[in-house]
Amino acid sequence: MAFAPERDQAEVLAAYPDALAAEPMREPLPVPIPGDLLALFDACTNAGLYGDDDRAALPAMFALDAEGTRRLIEAMHAEIRSCRRCRHFRRPGLSDGYCVGRDDLPSVYGLLRALPDDKGLRCDAFDRGATR
Ligand code: SF4
Repeated sequence: MAFAPERDQAEVLAAYPDALAAEPMREPLPVPIPGDLLALFDACTNAGLYGDDDRAALPAMFALDAEGTRRLIEAMHAEIRSCRRCRHFRRPGLSDGYCVGRDDLPSVYGLLRALPDDKGLRCDAFDRGATR
């Protein structure tokens, strides 16, 4: 609220005795973010799910609601694409796994294709399936 001519808070409170003095909200004290949560956050960032603005907001979010922030980041981490989370992933025997969903990948044998270098991180054919 502005007054003309300009008045300080004491003058305004004297003129409006029922008014409440507004105090600016204090910034939350910094709280150290646990390393395991930072690792999840960084994995999300590498997958393109978080950006610089999210990283900048993380300390304040964690200070205000540590458990809520953890749940949010864990849920986002579960959204990261990965061949191992894809219904097109097959792992016969002791192999590292193959893809049966893309025919643009090099054929290994039969229907089994080599996994992409990014292990499905940015695969458009990623399919989590109906189990979620
Ligand atoms: S390459 Fe794509 S389609 Fe194939 S298993 Fe990985 S994420 Fe799934």
